[in-house]
Amino acid sequence: MLPIEYLQHMEELLGGEFGAYLRAMDEPSHAGIRTNRLKITPGELSRLIEKEPEGVPWCADGFYMPDGFRAGKSALYHAGLYYIQEPSAMSAAQALGVSPGERVLDLCAAPGGKSTQLAGALGGEGLLICNDVSRSRLKALVKNLELAGVRNAVVTCEEPRKLARAFPGFFDKILIDAPCSGEGMFRKDRDVLKAYSAQRIEFFARTSRDLLESAALMLSPGGRILFSTCTFNKTENEDSVDGFLASNRDFSPAEIRLKGDDGFAKGFGGNGENYRRLFPHRVHGEGHFLAVLEKRGNSSQNENNVSVSMPKSLKRAARSQQAVFRDFAAYALRDDFLIDAELYVMGDTLYTLPPGLPNLDGIRLVKTGLRLGELRQSRFEPSQALAMALTCRDVKQVADFPHTSAEVVKYLKGETLEMAPGSQDGWALVCTEGYPLGWGKVLRGILKNKYNRNWLMD
Ligand code: SAM
Repeated sequence: MLPIEYLQHMEELLGGEFGAYLRAMDEPSHAGIRTNRLKITPGELSRLIEKEPEGVPWCADGFYMPDGFRAGKSALYHAGLYYIQEPSAMSAAQALGVSPGERVLDLCAAPGGKSTQLAGALGGEGLLICNDVSRSRLKALVKNLELAGVRNAVVTCEEPRKLARAFPGFFDKILIDAPCSGEGMFRKDRDVLKAYSAQRIEFFARTSRDLLESAALMLSPGGRILFSTCTFNKTENEDSVDGFLASNRDFSPAEIRLKGDDGFAKGFGGNGENYRRLFPHRVHGEGHFLAVLEKRGNSSQNENNVSVSMPKSLKRAARSQQAVFRDFAAYALRDDFLIDAELYVMGDTLYTLPPGLPNLDGIRLVKTGLRLGELRQSRFEPSQALAMALTCRDVKQVADFPHTSAEVVKYLKGETLEMAPGSQDGWALVCTEGYPLGWGKVLRGILKNKYNRNWLMD
């Protein structure tokens, strides 16, 4: 049963469309997958799925879930070729319009649907900072970034007000996917309905105002904020954004235009022309709200007023530590960027960092750049994250199997594999359809499984 206050609010908002909305709520929800641009194009992915998936109109990388396709079980998922995402949720990062090389903040990022989409838009260039206050949800975010092969992300766990002190005027683009009452998810997830309480709406609206104020401090002149929620509630949506605009005269709302957005509705109230609403009776997707806010000025006014340096907890790797990695790279890798990369160390773990990383002292870091692997005295043990960030062309020894093969299932379950005759002892990258799944170590024709134990397939 839908809550009565909620239904009254929907009737007030929708007027004559309320009946169509109620009928849509009795239809099945829409699921989707979004191509990971860092690894594959949508055309290549749809050929591998072999089910001719239907595209999501407003997201060139998105597909509706093909009938019978078990997206979370496929080896293509374990190769990080797509993210399982509700189709309406694909609109937010799309509307922010990120370009390679920009500095981007995803302020409420876990579990990473929109972060992985932003990373795809950056194409490996620039800096992505992903933040969330929930440590438990951040675990999933780190896994999703690693699975997607993202090299240029840093993950923080901070209250936005504290982040704002570290990054004044730093970012070109900021995405705020705010915590909300989740009314737009009622059809998809009945648990959201159980947790719903009309009393929490004011709390979420206040949180959104705080998030917007912190984001405003971190945005460079000429920069853009994308504010989104998955609720229909006007207090949480238009009222939060309008309240922010009323007290921040250097910001104005920008109209959102996406290819394929014909079914999107405008928002409500004075600025509603510029905002967008996704309703399940108008689009094949769940409920979403989008607003883009632009800060006056142009990016050349960006004073770069943040000191750029590496975090104190990371040290430049000592020569001997670099040599251990270079030995591994020389015999296992072909990838030039890693041969020349600047290496950093924390404990026994080696990293590369995205360029232009600001001073992060005092900020709680959960992930810093790309984790390359562990130093074990004179040996180097490459990480799962490194495997996912490479292509099979970057590695000298590859064991590649079709995604429907028994070998791939055995590998993802942690079993050993037999290598083809002529294989060399040492590291090999196990791939499916030419996309990495993880490492193995070959000894006399048998590949010992080095797949991340926490990622094993059930
Ligand atoms: N953007 C995510 C995605 O696409 O996968 C979903 C984000 S979810 C709608 C909202 C997130 O906001 C939750 O993960 C929650 O932990 C986080 N959150 C709640 N309060 C916050 C705050 N004050 N600052 C930062 N994050 C917050």
